[in-house]
Amino acid sequence: MRLGMAAVCFAVAICGNAGAQSVPSPAGEAGLSHQVLKTLIETDTTHRSGSTTVLEGKIRTMLLDAGFPAADIVVDGPTENRGNLVVRYRAAHAVKKPLLIIIHLDVVEALRADWTMDPFVLQVKDGYFYGRGTQDVKGNAAAFLTAFLELQRSRWTPKRDVILALTADEEGGAHNGVAWLLEHRPELVQAEAVINPDMGGLLLRGGKPAEMAVEATEKTYADFLFRATNPGGHSSLPTPENALYEVADALGRLERAPFPVELNAITHAYYVEEQKLANPERAALIARLLQRGTEEQAAAELSAKYPWDNAILRTTCVATMMQAGHAPNALPGTASANVNCRILPGHSAEEVRKRLVAIADDPKVQVLYRAEDDSESATAPTRLTVAPPPPRKDIMDSLHVAMDALHWNVPVLPIMEAGASDSIYTANAGMPSYGFSGIGVESGDERAHGRDERILVSSYDQGVVFTRVLVKALGES
Ligand SMILES: [Zn+2]
Repeated sequence: MRLGMAAVCFAVAICGNAGAQSVPSPAGEAGLSHQVLKTLIETDTTHRSGSTTVLEGKIRTMLLDAGFPAADIVVDGPTENRGNLVVRYRAAHAVKKPLLIIIHLDVVEALRADWTMDPFVLQVKDGYFYGRGTQDVKGNAAAFLTAFLELQRSRWTPKRDVILALTADEEGGAHNGVAWLLEHRPELVQAEAVINPDMGGLLLRGGKPAEMAVEATEKTYADFLFRATNPGGHSSLPTPENALYEVADALGRLERAPFPVELNAITHAYYVEEQKLANPERAALIARLLQRGTEEQAAAELSAKYPWDNAILRTTCVATMMQAGHAPNALPGTASANVNCRILPGHSAEEVRKRLVAIADDPKVQVLYRAEDDSESATAPTRLTVAPPPPRKDIMDSLHVAMDALHWNVPVLPIMEAGASDSIYTANAGMPSYGFSGIGVESGDERAHGRDERILVSSYDQGVVFTRVLVKALGES
């Protein structure tokens, strides 16, 4: 592999030094992918002081230099610093609908004092690239951008449009780029399916590829309030009306009333694969889960053992905060608890709220919906999220082509994410969305949002090859 050779020489040249070294501008093919990564890491895209628009200006120049027509590169956004860049790799005569790749360019804050080196200078040490965003998720933005630049320079033309959207405000902020594009510039991002390398991806164990996780659906987030209000009074004269007990009792009932078990196309596919990989005891439990008649008991046993299974087998709602009373010697006039829910796809927040009302089972305990802006309402949104279809063949086939190019003979695990990413917007816009990437991360070395964030130089170089093969396969699918 040409790139692998070049990358090894490059890494050795730099790693030969004892301390961390800032990355110079090397020549050659690996030089391009490393230079792109350097530009991305070293341009500040934090919320406090950064700007995705500034970085997109540099990326736009790279794309123009590689030969992309100016008309196929759009930078647009709601504010000066929250730009989104969309580049369309145009097919000559497209028959099929485009495929879309979404990657956020913003990064979480990093304090120089917390790190052992400057987080906004790409550095190489002990075979790793260090810098804020190397894992989350500028490493992948750089790999996809490099693929676009190299393929354009090689004069390759896809059979269907492949769109790359580099976006703002995934890590917080009021202007999520994917949501903004879908609302304000839908013509730029309409596609048949979506890839979001922010989620899933290649897991390494002992430096070797172990499994490829493909995130294919997500739970949604909702907060509710359990609230009781009483007249209150002197604590020396307790009455049966005590807001604190009422809310606490309702929470006790919540703890003892898990939501029903429900498998969807993705979690079912996950367990089919997981059964082959799991230890014998877990595999036996999964076999019973997948069998009609024994699924409830098996789900209960799995949930008791593994929080991850509990999270993907059902909607979960858990008490996270409580507020009550105003003085140690007074009966509490009000009590309220925050109940945080992670809702399975295919269900609405209002559906969950009604179930919470039934679980609370006390007319004195109100169950309110608490919106993102902290406002409270008696009902929750009724909008259903989209239940996932089975994994798409064009995407999965392209993934396998890219894995084969690197000789990664590892299991592919479809997963449902218990948290949320930008895929929730594209999935709910009717575009099945898949999270995976070819930049392997060692199990236990996940440093996204953390200090000394890093990726192996060799993982990045292989990820660059994987990504180029992937983009080509997607464009020809
Ligand atoms: Zn991310």
